[in-house]
Amino acid sequence: MPSAVRPVGTAAATRRSGVVKFTNCLLVKGTDLVHEDLWVSSVTGKILNGQELLYGHLTAPDDIIDLGGRILSPGLIDVQLNGAYGFDFSVIPEDGSIAYGKGVQQVNRNLVKGGVTSYLPTLTSQRPEVYHKALPYLSPSGSTRDPNLGSESLGAHCEGPFISPTKNGIHNVSVLQVPHDGIASLAVCYGPSNLTHPTPIKLVTLAPELPGALPAIQSLASLGIIASIGHSEATYEEAKLGIKAGATSITHLFNAMKPLHHRNPGIFGLLGTASSSISKPYFGIIADGIHIHPTSIKIAYNAHPEGLILVTDAMRLAGMPDGVYDWTNGSRIVKEGALLTLEENGKIAGSSIELIDCVTNFMNWTGASVPEALKAVTETPASMLGLGGVKGSLQEGADADLTVLDVLEGAIGEDKRVVVDQVWKFGVKVHDREGQLRG
Ligand SMILES: [Zn+2]
Repeated sequence: MPSAVRPVGTAAATRRSGVVKFTNCLLVKGTDLVHEDLWVSSVTGKILNGQELLYGHLTAPDDIIDLGGRILSPGLIDVQLNGAYGFDFSVIPEDGSIAYGKGVQQVNRNLVKGGVTSYLPTLTSQRPEVYHKALPYLSPSGSTRDPNLGSESLGAHCEGPFISPTKNGIHNVSVLQVPHDGIASLAVCYGPSNLTHPTPIKLVTLAPELPGALPAIQSLASLGIIASIGHSEATYEEAKLGIKAGATSITHLFNAMKPLHHRNPGIFGLLGTASSSISKPYFGIIADGIHIHPTSIKIAYNAHPEGLILVTDAMRLAGMPDGVYDWTNGSRIVKEGALLTLEENGKIAGSSIELIDCVTNFMNWTGASVPEALKAVTETPASMLGLGGVKGSLQEGADADLTVLDVLEGAIGEDKRVVVDQVWKFGVKVHDREGQLRG
């Protein structure tokens, strides 16, 4: 008998449905904020069709959450995170792989509190044995749909080692490689089993001008792995060949690449190319106020707003006190506030910013609205990763990874600030700032 006609008061009618209804909130829908309720299931971890539930009278919500007019956004996605909370994805601890796996789990549980509900754990250029040991622990982790595990890996981002030795940034030159044999070179480096289905790798950053890089990009695309142009000396023409081979993204635009020159616009020039000639790539932006001038960010955004993805590029010193820290391969890093530099040459050595603060910076620097800025950490990265409608979305059927956000208005002449009040993973509340403040 259909549940709709069960008499009220039976065990069936009083059974908990696992349905949660958010009300008195502003939903992020595209580039708008909309006054609407949102219904989710803590059982399936997905967003439900509110209209169907409302008018079908099939299910009453277990919980009604009044958000007091605050913003309800999809959970944030960071596609470039090298480490955090003292853990570095590129370092296998001395006590081995088990300790590495535990370290990853610890990052996941901490990361979710900042509103980052999914991300790509990112490896800087390393010797092959590091990939062989680390990658199996970085594969997509959401299949159990367990909210208690915290933030979810969507697969690893291998940033290098097939990058330009003259645009290495903080990557150790001695481990860089040339993909002479195309995808076969990548398979030897990352481990053959890590390039076969189901692969733990979601995205590879490489330099398209290197010998063998273009066929490697073609093979990555056919394996469903995203190829992203970065740490590269590519001219505009070489970058365009990379896109034609199947690359769909640019890794931290402006950083570790040739600057825009009026006679050779370099990788940046891809943003100005007519869409009839190539499909314009997505591009990562580190909006920490150190890596890129705010005006450069605004120019890139104006050139291709649908492609802009905010990334932290944060590393393990994020959240640690100022000082000098040992880095890989004998180098040391100086941390002064958000600024991280290599001790030996003063080069910028990654960032220590949180993704929600990138949203705040981006909004204040470009004049983007709150939903426009949030799009750059939700819908746009999800679509770059081929996960549109699954992550980064409030559509019916999407995963119920959510953040409750407040916008703190500054005094006159001061900037606004977006803060994360609550985080929900697979339809279950996993963090509450108020509760934490009281505790
Ligand atoms: Zn980099």
